[in-house]
Amino acid sequence: MAGGGAGDRARLLRRFADAVDADLENLARLEVANAGHTIGNARWEAGNVRDVLNYYAATPERLAGAQIPVAGGVDITFHEPIGVVGVIAPWNFPMPIASWGVAPALATGNTVVLKPAELTPLTALRLAELALDAGIPEGVFTVLPGAGPVVGQRLVDHPGVGKIVFTGSTRVGKKIMADCAAGVKRLTLELGGKNANIVFADADLEKAAAAAPGGAFDNAGQDCCSRSRVLVQREVYDRFLELLEPAVTSFRVGDPAEEGVQMGPLISAAHRDAVAGYVPDGAPVAFRGETPDGPGFWYPPTVLAPVDPGERAATEEIFGPVITVVPFTDEADAIRLANDTSYGLSASIWTRDLGCALRVSRAVEAGNLSVNSHSSVRYWTPFGGVKQSGLGRELGPDAVTAFTETKNLFIATED
Ligand code: NAD
Repeated sequence: MAGGGAGDRARLLRRFADAVDADLENLARLEVANAGHTIGNARWEAGNVRDVLNYYAATPERLAGAQIPVAGGVDITFHEPIGVVGVIAPWNFPMPIASWGVAPALATGNTVVLKPAELTPLTALRLAELALDAGIPEGVFTVLPGAGPVVGQRLVDHPGVGKIVFTGSTRVGKKIMADCAAGVKRLTLELGGKNANIVFADADLEKAAAAAPGGAFDNAGQDCCSRSRVLVQREVYDRFLELLEPAVTSFRVGDPAEEGVQMGPLISAAHRDAVAGYVPDGAPVAFRGETPDGPGFWYPPTVLAPVDPGERAATEEIFGPVITVVPFTDEADAIRLANDTSYGLSASIWTRDLGCALRVSRAVEAGNLSVNSHSSVRYWTPFGGVKQSGLGRELGPDAVTAFTETKNLFIATED
C-alpha cells in the first residue's frame, strides 16, 4: 500500500471502514468480554474506529505538497511516508486509541505494526482480520501482541521502525522518549492526566452536578480524560455536594453487557487494589455508589471531600472511579489549582459567564478544554496533552503531517 496510488489507498481504507461497520456488534461484544466496557461504550468505540478510518480515507488524494516561488527554477514539496510506524496501545480504550494512530499512518502511505496492551489484544487482532478481508495487503497492517518490555521495546529500538505512537502511562512514555532519542526516532506521546472540572458559582449547578459523574466515572474512571479533580467555588461548595450525591449514588454500576448500565468493573484485580490504595481506612469518603455482587473487579463510584489539594488522591492519576472535591475562592485561585499538576491533558469549566469561560480556557494548561460539557474527543478535532500529558496531537485535520516527512525539491530551469 505504501507504493500504491493515492486513490487505491483511499478505497482500501473505506473498505476497511465498511468491514468494521459490518462487524460493529461483534467488535463491541468482544470489547465487553475483553475489557469490561459497557456495551453502550463499546458500540461507540467500534463506531469511532469506523469513523476515524473513513475520515482519514479522505487524506491520500488530498496530501498535496506546495509549489514555492523561487528564483532560477521550480521548488516543490512532497509529503512522504516515514516507513514503518509502531503503534503501542494501552488497555483502557483498546480500539479507538489504536485507530487514531493506525488510520492516519496508513492513509499517508506507511505500514503499521500495532502492539496492543497485554490484557486487551482481542479487538486489535479482530481489526487485523478485518483489514485483510477488506483487501489491505498482508504485512501492511500487522498486529503483534506481547509484553511491553519485549515486543513494545523491540519496536522502539528497531532501526527499521521510523516512528512510534505511544499511548499509556507517563512513566513508560518517558522511557520510550529517551530510547527513541538514540535513533532520533519520530514520536507521538499520549500520556496520563489529572483533569480539573472547575465549577464556578454562577454555573447551572444542577447541570454541572448531574454531568460530573459521567465526566469522571465513564469507563470506570479508566480514562486519561477523566475529570476527577472537581474544583468548586467556595460559596456553592455545599450546595454542589448536595446535588452531586444523588447523581453519584444513582450512577448505574453493573453487568457491562446489560443495556443502559453506565459503569462496569475495573480491568484487573491488581488495578482494583491500586485504586483502593487511594481510599485507605479513614479517607474522607463523602459518599459513594454501589457495586453488584458476583464476578468482576468492582470498585464503587467514590467521592472524597473535603480533601487537601496537595494530597495523593488529589494530585496522582488514580485511573479509577474516585473523585476529589476541592473548594476555590476566585478565578485566579481556580486557575492556580487547575495548573498545579505536572499533567495537562483536559479540563472542563462550568459557568454562564462567557468572558470567564474564555479567560480560564486560555489560562488552564491543557490540550483539550470544554465549557459546560465534558466532551473531549471528536475524530475531526485535535486531541492531545501539554506538559507531561504528551507530545504532539492526534485526530483532526493536522494529525496526518505527524506521519510524513516533508521533502523539498529544487529544479534549476536556467542554463
Ligand atoms: P502502560 O504505560 O503500562 O502501557 C501502555 C502500553 O505500553 C502497553 O501496550 C504496554 O505493553 C506497553 N509497554 C510497557 N512497557 C513498555 C516498554 N518498555 N516499551 C514499549 N512498550 C511498553 O499504560 P496502561 O496501564 O496500559 O494505560 C494506562 C495509562 O495510559 C494511563 O496513564 C492513561 O492516562 C494513559 N492513557 C493516555 C491517553 C491519552 O490519550 N493521553 C489515552 C488512554 C490512556
